Amino acid sequence: MDWKYKQVYEWGADCLKKSGIREAELDARLLLEFVCKTDRNTLLAHSDREVSKEEYESYVNHISRRKKHVPLQHITGIQEFMGLEFEVNENVLIPRQDTEILVEEVMRHLHDGMRILDMCTGSGCILLSLLYYSNDCVGLGVDVSRAALDVAVRNAERLKSVKSGMDVNFLQSDLFEGLENNNLKDNKKFEIIVSNPPYIKNSVIETLMPEVKEYEPVSALDGGEDGLYFYREIIKKAGKYLTGGGKLFFETGFDQGYNVKNMMEDAGYKQVEIIKDYAGLDRVVYGSLLTER
Ligand code: GLN
Repeated sequence: MDWKYKQVYEWGADCLKKSGIREAELDARLLLEFVCKTDRNTLLAHSDREVSKEEYESYVNHISRRKKHVPLQHITGIQEFMGLEFEVNENVLIPRQDTEILVEEVMRHLHDGMRILDMCTGSGCILLSLLYYSNDCVGLGVDVSRAALDVAVRNAERLKSVKSGMDVNFLQSDLFEGLENNNLKDNKKFEIIVSNPPYIKNSVIETLMPEVKEYEPVSALDGGEDGLYFYREIIKKAGKYLTGGGKLFFETGFDQGYNVKNMMEDAGYKQVEIIKDYAGLDRVVYGSLLTER
């Protein structure tokens, strides 16, 4: 049977649409591009190119997984973030475009040679983007999940092959626990601590899209009863690991900016700012610790 790009794509889009997949056409196209190792323009310009038997079979297989709401990125194994490709799987949160706002905000304050701690690093997307787009910075990514760190390490290795000399380490630790025993000298403290912690209220998790609640790690989503558990814990300890003028940056949920700002101010952070995303919603909160503690 000879199948052509256009037919195969239309079949895929139709299947996904019937299964209630939100962006059926987009996903059908992206999966075809992935399978045929091609891009949008080629698909459009050569809509009558034949799809090989192997490509067709693998497309059918991917469409059937996507129909079950397996996230597109778990099928392709990749998510782009800050213009870079990150490996993802079921052990890490898929990097979100919203999180680029956090990275961009940190970048405005980042100087060569700074030390950065990324708490709850997951795939490593935040820390690795920061290191990729800066010079001579030193990064530590912390996560409680070994399986997540395995992904982060592979992401680091791949980026290092493009930008050699990236100085990054990862530590498996429940928040700061693994750092506590390290007697941190001042020159080992961090100028920047950044975190996109789990921040969904646990009562809300049930209402999320199946792609998220069934396939992404719940430990990367669940922020406790009020969604603020990790902010509270991180704010409690971060001061000990920040240099005098060091800054703490968080991504927050759209309704958490005010609470997180207050929590930071209560803990002695100065110039605490809320940054909104392109939809006008609270997205990033950061502040500066002016005094050593
Ligand atoms: N820091 C990672 C990210 O932003 C993981 C965040 C998380 O697991 N909550 O994608």
